Amino acid sequence: MRVDKRKVALIGTGMVGMSYAYAMLNQSVCDEMVLIDVNKKRAEGEAMDLNHGLAFAPSNMKIFAGEYEDCEDADIVVICAGVAQKEGETRLDLLKRNAEVFRSIIDPVTASGFNGIFLVATNPVDIMTRITCDLSGFNPRRVLGTGTTLDTARLRYLLGGYLKADPRNVHAYVIGEHGDSEFVPWSQAMLATKPISDLCGEVGTRKVCQEDLDQISEEVRGAAYRIIEAKQATYYGIGMAMTRITKAILGDEHSVLTVSAMLKGEYGQSNVFAGVPCIINKNGIQSVLTLSLTEQELARFADSCDTLRESYEGIL
Ligand code: NAD
Repeated sequence: MRVDKRKVALIGTGMVGMSYAYAMLNQSVCDEMVLIDVNKKRAEGEAMDLNHGLAFAPSNMKIFAGEYEDCEDADIVVICAGVAQKEGETRLDLLKRNAEVFRSIIDPVTASGFNGIFLVATNPVDIMTRITCDLSGFNPRRVLGTGTTLDTARLRYLLGGYLKADPRNVHAYVIGEHGDSEFVPWSQAMLATKPISDLCGEVGTRKVCQEDLDQISEEVRGAAYRIIEAKQATYYGIGMAMTRITKAILGDEHSVLTVSAMLKGEYGQSNVFAGVPCIINKNGIQSVLTLSLTEQELARFADSCDTLRESYEGIL
């Protein structure tokens, strides 16, 4: 019997990293997970804590606090390490500091001989994913960010409630920057195979209208702000989104997820990482799915990409 070892190296064992690790353990997504953090003691404590739950987990998993050399034979290196914004610090200064953090991570990861797939969650995620690609020199199809995966999950949840339908039968995406310029291309939103825009004006058990849909997309855009206001940080949802992406990679699923991918002419854009629906398999991004956006939606997507390019150029 041949037993493949699915190995993940997690860098950054803070709230996001450990929510991911906890979801990975509970869903039995890999066989081995190494936890790496600049705060080694924290990584060790987290490894101990998770190991103490192994007796109740669905299957066995080797979990330990390690070093960058342990990335050598990993299938995926997941990065959620980052520094928090200081009082009075601008977004650009924070970005510069996180770029330095990434330099201290990507160099030793690549020096280990790692030859797998990078998955980035650190914010601003589209920029940090691009920096990971630059620093590693990897093929961009093997470097992906969480992009708008979580925003899309939030959208499907809210639309499911509004339409009184199972969110799994709601097919709609948030695309562009994971941030203020993200948006929902409503022309591409479906309930089963029926365009949601066709439901507008239809009198059924509930009247659907565009104003309500716009309100839902506003709620999605503001969700992180509201959670942070209430509990300082968001981590469970993103941990589960990262677990979903990891499953798609390790299971060679060819699943469609809105990860942050380098665009090479798709949607008329290039030299930018942005959240778009992609087919995800063992190679990382197998392909970018090009939706049939309206002219207006294409213009909005272009604006979002311009915002991302400006931020990236700000740190050069
Ligand atoms: P946190 O402060 O709890 O954890 C950050 C961890 O990074 C800490 O354990 C810290 O020791 C570690 N770290 C710092 N510098 C390091 C270095 N040079 N090398 C290795 N480790 C280092 O923060 P968090 O709440 O876990 O958030 C982590 C990141 O995830 C943030 O950038 C946050 O904005 C982002 N995030 C992204 C999404 C998304 O949708 N992509 C959602 C939520 C949060």
